[in-house]
Amino acid sequence: MALPSAPRSPGRLVAVQPMRRKRCAACRRGPLSLLVLEDGAPRCLDCADLGHLVFLPRGDTALTRRSREESGLSVVVVRFNRRGSRYERQGVLVEEAALVRAEQRCLADAEARRRRRARDARRRLVEDERFKAAFAAEIRRLFPGCPDGRALAIAGHASVRGSGRVGRSAAGRALSEGAVTSAVVAGVRHADTPYDRLLMSGVPRWEARRRIAPAVESVLLAWREAGEGVG
Ligand SMILES: [Zn+2]
Repeated sequence: MALPSAPRSPGRLVAVQPMRRKRCAACRRGPLSLLVLEDGAPRCLDCADLGHLVFLPRGDTALTRRSREESGLSVVVVRFNRRGSRYERQGVLVEEAALVRAEQRCLADAEARRRRRARDARRRLVEDERFKAAFAAEIRRLFPGCPDGRALAIAGHASVRGSGRVGRSAAGRALSEGAVTSAVVAGVRHADTPYDRLLMSGVPRWEARRRIAPAVESVLLAWREAGEGVG
């Protein structure tokens, strides 16, 4: 059985992984794991002057593209798929030096991406710290009696990235009085009242909130008034 005619496109070299045992028509070497067809006759890579190329299996799109860009000579390697009645790409043959350069470019890209991610992370950290400080300052403005440590803790908790907490909302980012007060209420509820213990003991949330409301109010009042006395 003759080899099915290999796919051709202008200026594109193709090598075939044969399904049947084939020998080189020029040097008689065989069976060949890879051959090119010249005038319908199989030739080994050496006889086709392609013996210096190395095989890069398919799979890494960027590496394949760059290897072919870097390589003066590149050959598409295909295998005939009987069931699909068509040739399927298996990889490419490229110059070894080209493959090395392509690998270096891909590594450089990966390194650049890693550095960019690190830069982004540092910038987010700085933004977060700034936001947290601004949030804490706003808490201290509205609640002058709130200790610095508590203000920072509440601001930090409210501004955790990706938390969906009040500090990350649009109102929180704009540091609206409502958003800041909500964060303070939440902080007081958990730290200055038995709210969490009530929840743990099975008290429904609305009931727990009702029971602790006076305690929350008195803390807020004290924190608000502390400034009035001073100012
Ligand atoms: Zn040969």
